[in-house]
Amino acid sequence: MGRSSKDKRDIYYRLAKEEGWRARSAFKLLQLDEEFQLFEGVRRAVDLCAAPGSWSQVLSRKLKGGAGEGPDSVKIVAVDLQAMAPLPGVVQIQGDITKVSTAQEIIQHFEGQPADLVVCDGAPDVTGLHDIDEYIQAQLLLAALNITTHVLNKGGTFVAKIFRGKDVTLLYSQLRIFFPDVTCAKPRSSRNSSIEAFVVCRGYCPPEGYVPNMSNPLLDHCYDVDFNQLEGPNRVIVPFLACGDLSAYDSDRTYPLQLAPGKEYSYVPPTQPPIRPPYQEACFLKRNNLLAKEPGPSPLEEASPAPSYG
Ligand code: SAM
Repeated sequence: MGRSSKDKRDIYYRLAKEEGWRARSAFKLLQLDEEFQLFEGVRRAVDLCAAPGSWSQVLSRKLKGGAGEGPDSVKIVAVDLQAMAPLPGVVQIQGDITKVSTAQEIIQHFEGQPADLVVCDGAPDVTGLHDIDEYIQAQLLLAALNITTHVLNKGGTFVAKIFRGKDVTLLYSQLRIFFPDVTCAKPRSSRNSSIEAFVVCRGYCPPEGYVPNMSNPLLDHCYDVDFNQLEGPNRVIVPFLACGDLSAYDSDRTYPLQLAPGKEYSYVPPTQPPIRPPYQEACFLKRNNLLAKEPGPSPLEEASPAPSYG
């Protein structure tokens, strides 16, 4: 394939190089901004899953000024599993966003001064098995959301890549718990053939009393969290209902056989016995008094050899 072939096929790939963006993805964020004015009033931003860094470049150019001193200075923190070439004014963290340690490192940078915008363009290494790819993508999104609840200012915006698979409605409703305004957007630069889209979640407003916590089971090593100690909206208690008439039999009690006078007990076999129970071989051995024999080929196998597919 000639060097110009991808340039000819993919206009955004060509434009990215011409305009100095590290990846064609830059246009996705730029086009989302055209529609939603994402950067208005933003001074502090987090770029999750940032490598090779074109979204960080967009943030850096759009928020202007780069990092500096003082409360109003621009701060951009970029995170990725992969190392990224440095970008002026962008703090870089190499780490996995599903790990508590990475989440904590990000949070440290924003203590006292929450971010106004969190973006996440995270994508797993696609396996081609749609259910698995969608599941992993959803995990990345939820890990990003969890970090977001620690660092985002009330009223702030969260933008994340989403795969519009069959279970996407569940993700939308999870996002709606934290954001009153959730839109799914597909920029022109995102190929129509891809199920990729972006959720733009505005007006961050966690439930009353919600305390951000690391008890997200998607994040690793959260086993030291006692889920029963969580309080308020952090604690989910589903109704427990004991049902059935109290006069019905108690399944923990033993009841004597109740036989009509003069009637003998007669065994009733199960309506549908197991077709091939795991204890079948043991029963066979016991019935044939073979349980004490040396281990060798199973007599059951000898009696009915396994089918051959050759
Ligand atoms: N927005 C980037 C840009 O404009 O240059 C492109 C991001 S690329 C589509 C997806 C990135 O997600 C990859 O660099 C990959 O390393 C990163 N990623 C995937 N899983 C991750 C994880 N668990 N933690 C951190 N980064 C992850």
